[in-house]
Amino acid sequence: MSSTDNTQPAPLMIVGEVASSGLARGPAMLCDCARTQTAVPLRQVSAEVQAEVERFDAAVLAAEGKLREVQESVRRTLGKDEAEIFEAQVLLLRDVQLRDAVRALCLEKRMNVEAAVEEAIKQLMDLFGRLEDPYFRERATDLYDVGRRLLDHLAESGLPDVPVVHEGCVIITSEILASVVARLEGQGVRGLIVEKGGLTAHATILARSLGIPTLVQVPEATAKIRAGDLVIVDALAGRAFINPQADILRKYDQVDANLKAHQGVLKGLIGLPTVTHDGVEIKLCANIGQNADALAAANVKADGVGLYRTEFVFLVQDHFPSEDEQYQFYRATAEHLQPAETVIRVLDVGSDKPLSYFPLPREANPAMGFRGIRLLLAHPTLLHTQLRAILRLSASHPVAILLPMIDGIDELRAAKAAIEHAKEELAAAGQSFDPLIPVGAMIETPSAAILIEHLADEVDFFSVGSNDLVQFLLAADRIRGEMKSTYDPLHPAVIQVLAKLATVARRKGTPISLCGEIASDPTYTNLLIGLGFRSFSVSPGRLLDIKHAIRSTDLQQAEKLAEQVLSVHSTRDIRAQVQDDWNRRRPVASPEFNGPTGPVGTSLAVRHNVARQRFEAQAGESAPAFLSYRAEGERVILKHTFVPDALRGQGIAADLVRVALEEARQRHWKIVPRCSYVAGFIERHPEFCDLVDRQEGNLD
Ligand code: PEP
Ligand code: MG
Repeated sequence: MSSTDNTQPAPLMIVGEVASSGLARGPAMLCDCARTQTAVPLRQVSAEVQAEVERFDAAVLAAEGKLREVQESVRRTLGKDEAEIFEAQVLLLRDVQLRDAVRALCLEKRMNVEAAVEEAIKQLMDLFGRLEDPYFRERATDLYDVGRRLLDHLAESGLPDVPVVHEGCVIITSEILASVVARLEGQGVRGLIVEKGGLTAHATILARSLGIPTLVQVPEATAKIRAGDLVIVDALAGRAFINPQADILRKYDQVDANLKAHQGVLKGLIGLPTVTHDGVEIKLCANIGQNADALAAANVKADGVGLYRTEFVFLVQDHFPSEDEQYQFYRATAEHLQPAETVIRVLDVGSDKPLSYFPLPREANPAMGFRGIRLLLAHPTLLHTQLRAILRLSASHPVAILLPMIDGIDELRAAKAAIEHAKEELAAAGQSFDPLIPVGAMIETPSAAILIEHLADEVDFFSVGSNDLVQFLLAADRIRGEMKSTYDPLHPAVIQVLAKLATVARRKGTPISLCGEIASDPTYTNLLIGLGFRSFSVSPGRLLDIKHAIRSTDLQQAEKLAEQVLSVHSTRDIRAQVQDDWNRRRPVASPEFNGPTGPVGTSLAVRHNVARQRFEAQAGESAPAFLSYRAEGERVILKHTFVPDALRGQGIAADLVRVALEEARQRHWKIVPRCSYVAGFIERHPEFCDLVDRQEGNLD
């Protein structure tokens, strides 16, 4: 829906996955945060529309000047006729139709000029491409060229590729890139709602470390939410309310107050020891990506940095940082945590986390392709430069080297040989470093997990990268949110592997820490301690939550939970146990939205009678209760609810509606509640509001 649509906003609830927990409230801002640096940025503009049009005029002038230069050099080298070709492009640049189209897009759709140019060129190319006359069809190529030239000039005029956000807004986007989130810091974004996205994608990890409440996997968010809509992001329960009614706002005022009170409790934990209720010490470090994370980690008194993802240092550059630049970056970070240790992971990029200036071949399965240590071993200079920077820092700061994506002994030895080579070179040049710098391996491939016993003989420590380990153990992409029902860290195979890793590492006397995202989610803390982990590295924004969870558990409880979980073999059952354990301990919960009669519940089963297009429940020989519907294309009209006298007063109507709505969600139906009982039910249960076809089903 466009931002110029003036209809009264309707209340709506949509659901998603909690990627970074918390609560946020603010006006919606629709952005396209999935475009790469080289792609055309899309922003919404408001007052500055005229300025955008002026930028277009300036770009036309600049592009024409450049074209004239090219034309002149072609004339000198090739001749007059060839130079004439450029005349056509100059004419296209000055074309009033193009200018009008760009202007209209800026004004009507409130697009920034880059996006408007891209769109206008596309529209004109489509138009030219459809014409019979080959002369005009060829002009489509010229148009494309002209568009590129204009965009180049607009890019030179220094526009950021990150959305210029309005302070206090909630960003709504179809997808988001890590490089974009990295630049949102300090811009006052209150919340993020992403249509796609996965819980362990790097963009999500960053949002978490910036403490921005984030929901991912929110289908059609950009279509359902309009710019300026008031949005509550409930990243506790995994839902968002759009233009909520007063009673919902009041309930969230209360949750907000509870959260603030809890945050006060969390602040009080800074400086207290990280021990379980019964005194078991746990090491709690921070995962960091940028300097600001290190500061945040220092502020909450983390026990050190357990994972420094150096790819973020590379990600925010437009060139490979030199040895000195890297040294300065790492030093600034390690400085914050002194005298605690900073574990620096060597660059873990590849085609799953690309660098704009590092041309890599496209791969069909990038996560399983050329990445991590494999990529570094194939580019020894890149690895060597980074190792030298880290080693030089080790002369003055307690740092350790962590090797990502190790798949076995040979890779580990090759990486260690590269470290020795860098040491020798520094020694020969008389530069100091710590000769005993600890070297650790990430356990994030199934092969490394299987071989942990042998790897233990050759490393100083382990760090379990559960984000990747889960994806490889379960053959489920961590980035594609659609895989979320398969990508589940509570799969029994994952639990068994984690238990084995903790046990073997302890037996071998090799320190082991868990740094994947499950360590940052307090839902799992009890279980992970029970499985044998005594060291975690977590997102700085979550560190105090985890500390709170650790301090409110005890080892006996934790081991009991782990034992129960290890004895069941269904993910669903494990999740039920872990969730139940967490629900009993969670400090702040989201409000419930049950109707006045509370949760419904009858013992009658509801069945879907597809042939008769109705949901039915029947007791013995009595007439069935039913909810009838009619399918109209993608929309399903919920027509009528009927409960015979003999079955009244048992909550059967509510059961029918609930089952129908749950099925509607699974089948991606858009429903139209023509039946007043259904409409009332949805009003009392806003978790189903998002199913309603807004065209007909406004709830106000
Ligand atoms: C992991 O895989 O769990 C991990 C910590 O590494 P990354 O998320 O950076 O791949
Ligand atoms: Mg990993």
